[in-house]
Order: sequence, then structure tokens, then C-alpha cells
Amino acid sequence: MTIGVAVGSQTHVSLNHHPSITMSLRFDILTLFPEMFSSFLTTSIPKRAAEKGKADYHLTNIRDFATDAHLSVDDKPFGGGPGMVMMCQTIFDAVDAVEKQDQQPPTRILLTPQGSRFDQKMAEDLAKRPRLLLIAGRYEGFDQRISDGLKPIELSIGDYVLSGGELAAMVVIDAVVRLLPGVLGAEDGAADETFADGLIEHPQYTRPRDFRGMLVPDVLLSGNHSAIAKWRLEQRKLKTKEKRPDLWAQYEEKQPGSGT
Ligand code: SAM
Repeated sequence: MTIGVAVGSQTHVSLNHHPSITMSLRFDILTLFPEMFSSFLTTSIPKRAAEKGKADYHLTNIRDFATDAHLSVDDKPFGGGPGMVMMCQTIFDAVDAVEKQDQQPPTRILLTPQGSRFDQKMAEDLAKRPRLLLIAGRYEGFDQRISDGLKPIELSIGDYVLSGGELAAMVVIDAVVRLLPGVLGAEDGAADETFADGLIEHPQYTRPRDFRGMLVPDVLLSGNHSAIAKWRLEQRKLKTKEKRPDLWAQYEEKQPGSGT
């Protein structure tokens, strides 16, 4: 793992445990707050993905590309209005510099509440790509020409406004790396998780069998694997119908007669 590699005059941070392994998904993250990522990328599944050579992370501070004495990355909006807007030049220069670091062109992703809603299907799609470049905004967001010129995929993690795109970038990275083959072991595989096939996960129980009078269903203690599988599928359908009627409608449309 390398932290704090200097690239020219820029502060470039690489979290790359296995630089020699080429089948790894490269994440480039452009942010004004690279320090927000350090514990996230060195903990649990994102860390495991890097250790197994399945992902590597490169953090770049957008401010390193500022050219004036104040290291400005934002300015007042034309036409007036509150707040500041992230300027084109620093982001275009950062993207140019970062993209040159690797021959593989990245899929550019702009984190914005105006984007398409990020979901499991998108995570599966992104997990198949070789390189992702994520741009996290701050302040009142981006100059429109950043989107017009860079033509990124615009992604939102939900219909609410965050103070910055860093948490959104972490959400995308986390959802993607756990899908990379070999990152999760068989014991915590993603195959039957919520959304894997359009249904949410079945109820899970662990010890003790009796907690304050709430009992584990008998079938799970039966040792009968086909009965357990049947019960779990029924439960997944029931839970989806009850908790997520929107997902249930989509599931039924794809698999008519799947009712519970
Ligand atoms: N003024 C902008 C608007 O109304 O669309 C919101 C700017 S927000 C305060 C600052 C930054 O946080 C955005 O540029 C974006 O990068 C990030 N952000 C906020 N909410 C987000 C969301 N739901 N999904 C992804 N990124 C988000």
C-alpha cells in the first residue's frame, strides 16, 4: 500500500496493495477532501478488495489543479444567487492529468443529486468495467459545462442533498467492490442478497434459538435443505410484497404466476 505519492507538484494519494496485478478495477477519485476516504478505503471490504488485487484506489485533490494565488476551485454563479459553483478549469485539468496516468480510459462518473438513481443493477454494470473515475462536488455543485464537456454518467445516491459528493462516491465504491469476483468469500457471498434477483433477502437468524420468547422458525433447525430453501424463497416473496411493492410489481412482471 502506498500513501502520499507525489505526482509533480500534486498531492496524489494511491491506496494500492498489489500494483503488479493488472486485473484490478482502478478507481480514480477526484475530491476536495481526499482525507475523508482514508479510513473507508483501509477498512473491511474495500480494504479486502485492494489486498486481493481486485481493486486499487487513487485519490486526487482537485485543489492541486488551482492556478491562482488563493487556490480557488469555485466562484460566484453568473446571474446571481447563493453559494459558489465549482469551476471548469480545475476539474478539466484534474481529469486530464489523472486519465493520463493509465492507458485504460475510465468511465467518468459525476456524483450529483440531479443524476440517475444509483441502484444494484448499476453497481453490477460498473463492476464489469476496468476503470472508474468518480468526481465529487462541493458547494452549490458544478458549472454546467463540466457535465456538457466531460460527458460523464451522472449518478445520485438518492433524493436528498448532501454537502458533498464524497459520501456518494464511497457508496458507489462500496457497492461495486463487493461484487468483484473473489472479494466476498462463499460465507458472505452476494448471490442471495437483497436485489440479487429482484427480491429482498429472507429473514436471517443466529444464536440463541430463543431470545426473550422470540423463537427461530423450526424449519431452519430441521437440517432439511430443500425445505429451508423453499421456506426462504417464500419468505423473500412475502417480504418483498409487504415492504417493497414497487420491486414486487417488477418481479411479477418478469415472472408471471410467481405469486405467494
Ligand atoms: N446545488 C446542487 C443541486 O441543487 O443540485 C446541490 C449541490 S450539493 C450541496 C454539493 C455536492 O454534493 C454535489 O455537487 C454532489 O457532488 C454532491 N451530492 C449532493 N447530494 C448528492 C446525491 N444525492 N447524490 C450524489 N451526490 C450528491
